[in-house]
Amino acid sequence: MTVLVLGGAGYIGSHAVDRLVEKGYDVAVVDNLVTGHRAAVNSKARFYEGDVRDQKFLNDVFDKEDIEGVIHFAAFSVVPESMEKPLKYFDNNTAGMVSLLEVMNKHNVKRIVFSSTAATYGEPKQIPIKETDPQIPTNPYGESKLMMEKIMGWSDKAYGIKFVALRYFNVAGAKEDGSIGEDHHPETHLVPIILQVAAGERKELSIFGSDYPTKDGTNVRDYVHVVDLADAHILALEYLKAGHDSNAFNLGSSTGFSNKEMLEAARKVTGKEIPAKMAPRRAGDPSTLIAASDKAREVLNWKPQFDNVEDIIRTAWNWKQTHPQGYNDRETK
Ligand code: NAD
Ligand code: UDP
Repeated sequence: MTVLVLGGAGYIGSHAVDRLVEKGYDVAVVDNLVTGHRAAVNSKARFYEGDVRDQKFLNDVFDKEDIEGVIHFAAFSVVPESMEKPLKYFDNNTAGMVSLLEVMNKHNVKRIVFSSTAATYGEPKQIPIKETDPQIPTNPYGESKLMMEKIMGWSDKAYGIKFVALRYFNVAGAKEDGSIGEDHHPETHLVPIILQVAAGERKELSIFGSDYPTKDGTNVRDYVHVVDLADAHILALEYLKAGHDSNAFNLGSSTGFSNKEMLEAARKVTGKEIPAKMAPRRAGDPSTLIAASDKAREVLNWKPQFDNVEDIIRTAWNWKQTHPQGYNDRETK
């Protein structure tokens, strides 16, 4: 039996494919390479280039493969872009989920592990955020993902398709050996941008907002290492295979770091000055996001290996130094 990974050429998906292969799973990948990289996909996985919204293409893949479960990473995920182009997000993310569930149902595939996000909670009423807290997104990206969670909920009731929604907090880092890592164009996430400044590719870091009600006025986020995150998907798949009901889990460290603290940690890890300036707030940013992540630890038996941000930044810096141009495939895409 095969695990089908949608979006497996992307940053998180490629690490999940790699871990699945390492653990002996048979893996197939679907990706349209809109933001992903063919070179990021472990060579032991079969690769199908195409779009999740293309049901004919997806039906062909499901006909060819004997699929025991699906892990769904394929989506757009840039918060500020979603504020400007909300329909792009509802089309690719939300409509993509409808297409995938149609095909899964048609082929009697009844398990899906899904990349959800802390952005589904919006501005939290309490910290740390629990899975049962209200989900009121402050941006179209979070809304598109919340809709996807709800669509899976109704598809469970109607068709018995069981799901695990994994609500990631801030994902960073790279595989320890530096062979795969984060390569987005343009880069929008804090850690890779800080490291671009450290590497001399950018003049300075702009820290978005210094007047938030936090310890130093900058946003506070909860960072989780990409390989720990990848492992949680495998545990979630096994949880569904064991016959458990649909569920949702936060994935974070339960520790918050401000943007200024992340900058200081990166200065320490890289030994570089990393010039930075304060800039206006970025639209759609909640002030503080910290996960209560004991549920994943208790129910899925998730045991993250990376428990401090310096280690996370160190692995990202290793990837950056060994791959200054990322996958270097921009012309061929
Ligand atoms: P990414 O852009 O690197 O990966 C997404 C992958 O999906 C890419 O390879 C892209 O080519 C593919 N894709 C997108 N739309 C597709 C479509 N219609 N058909 C086929 N393939 C398609 O992003 P990432 O950072 O790896 O994030 C993966 C998932 O995790 C996303 O769903 C995102 O919403 C979620 N997430 C990410 C973070 C984070 O910090 N990176 C945090 C929370 C949630
Ligand atoms: N951020 C920043 N400068 C940048 C990129 C990000 O100050 O160049 C901040 C951003 O406003 C947020 C935090 O870093 O407070 C994390 O942002 P990111 O986009 O990495 O993840 P998000 O929390 O939006 O999922």
